Amino acid sequence: MSQKKIVIIGSGFSGLSSACYLAHQGYSVTVLEKNSQVGGRARLFEAEGFKYDMGPSWYWMPDVFERFFNDFGKKVEDFYTLEKLSPGFQVIFPDRSSFPISNQPEELETSFENIEKGSGLKLRDFLKNAEYKYHISMTDLVYKPCHSLLEFIRWDIIKQVFKTNLFSPLSYEVRGLFRHEKLRQIVEFPVIFLGAMADKIPALYSIMNYAAMKQGTFYPMGGMAKIVEGMTQLATSLGVEIITDANAEQIIVEKGLAIGVKINGGQIDCDIVLSSADYHHTEAKLLEKKYRNYTEKYWASRVFAPSSILFYLGFNKKIDKLIHHNLFFDTDYEAHGADIYQNPQWTKEPLFYVCCPSKTDETVAPEGCENVFILIPHAIQLEKSEEQLDSYYENVMNRIELYCGEDLRSSLIYKKEYTAKNFIEDYNSYKGNAYGLANTLLQTAFLKPKIKNKKVPNLFYTGQLTVPGPGVPPAIISGKIVAKEIRSYFQSKY
Ligand SMILES: Cc1cc2nc3c(=O)[nH]c(=O)nc-3n(C[C@H](O)[C@H](O)[C@H](O)COP(=O)(O)OP(=O)(O)OC[C@H]3O[C@@H](n4cnc5c(N)ncnc54)[C@H](O)[C@@H]3O)c2cc1C
Repeated sequence: MSQKKIVIIGSGFSGLSSACYLAHQGYSVTVLEKNSQVGGRARLFEAEGFKYDMGPSWYWMPDVFERFFNDFGKKVEDFYTLEKLSPGFQVIFPDRSSFPISNQPEELETSFENIEKGSGLKLRDFLKNAEYKYHISMTDLVYKPCHSLLEFIRWDIIKQVFKTNLFSPLSYEVRGLFRHEKLRQIVEFPVIFLGAMADKIPALYSIMNYAAMKQGTFYPMGGMAKIVEGMTQLATSLGVEIITDANAEQIIVEKGLAIGVKINGGQIDCDIVLSSADYHHTEAKLLEKKYRNYTEKYWASRVFAPSSILFYLGFNKKIDKLIHHNLFFDTDYEAHGADIYQNPQWTKEPLFYVCCPSKTDETVAPEGCENVFILIPHAIQLEKSEEQLDSYYENVMNRIELYCGEDLRSSLIYKKEYTAKNFIEDYNSYKGNAYGLANTLLQTAFLKPKIKNKKVPNLFYTGQLTVPGPGVPPAIISGKIVAKEIRSYFQSKY
């Protein structure tokens, strides 16, 4: 039998992950990437001696990365060196106090106890429960293709549903345990990664708390781009062909089967098309209407994770009070959440995140300088995020300077902005979303957009808009899930 050929659209984490698994399974794999660099939302850019990771900066769930490389007889350390951050991150509150999240659970319990009596032990129990959920999720559940609810019918899970209200909002549990607003916000923060506030995220996802507060926050020396570099190196060694500047224009379907992909006026023939590009783009722009899984009405009814305004900044001095990861929760937490999800509008005083990787890694900034990346989340599809830029920049810089107790703007030597418009141009992102679909209860597991096309049996999807969801570890897992599905497809056919 001749070697089967698979074309993958997109070279983000899910595209690279699926490419590795499929090549390892013996298929001929070609990855088409519209941009001139691989990595998707995790690309790197360099300017004035600074190196910026353009998207992800938090390295959580190190076991997922380790398992990925182990699947190919490799280890994480064959590709990059991991540093465990201490403290993992800090949260800055309206009174300008900062709360460091220690990477030692006992120390963290003591910090909780100092704010609210009894909260240290409650945190310990909460995290013990989160750890249990993490282990059942990450060893089994999260790797399911989620065709139907039946995949999840297991006695230990059913018991857990009744015992811990897995599907009630996480905020019910957190607010029942902790009275102090600071502690509530700290415990609710990790699930914001899943694209919604804790009142919309099922308690099942306290697995994120286990990741953030027990496993800890890591950093690959050289930046998140090192993961992309490692995966690309692995893919190439397995025989994957990666073509950059290759914009997929159409998925060609004949007699009910995908037979190839149109690029740059030419065509690449194949036996399977796998799209890791944004799901909506794949369906709405690359596929004839009659073959689509979902309508525009469906997409409009989905809860999307926010978009973001990003500032990549370079300062010609060190900034003492910043650490590697800083969350500015120094304004109204509830109001910003409501302006993203309930009544989408530009919020007056946004919460924001400041990443300063030069605190850990001297290769990302010139000597004596600081590499700073600011992320301000906002609702998708608001009018012109570019117009908000100047006022947001001044607002967040005022607050950073107030917290740091020093003037920073006069030491700025590099500045670049990135908005929803860039997400659309660079990644064909639906309405400029940054991290895909929110993991709300009605958009979890088998309720997510399906990994298989329902009408074209050899067309598949992977990435942050399908299972298991947004984030780097889920994108890597998504690649593994779809590779298994494709193998089953071939096995059933030949
Ligand atoms: C600002 C930001 C911060 C984040 N922070 C974190 C974090 O700290 N930790 C974390 O775990 N996650 C984080 N995330 C989320 C994480 O980066 C994503 O969930 C993950 O990278 C998505 O990978 P993907 O493969 O699904 O999609 P993508 O990375 O978007 O890859 C899809 C690829 O398809 C390409 N493509 C699109 N259309 C076409 C076409 N027609 N032809 C060819 N190629 C095409 C795109 O160019 C892109 O390269 C962050 C995301 C952003 C944007």
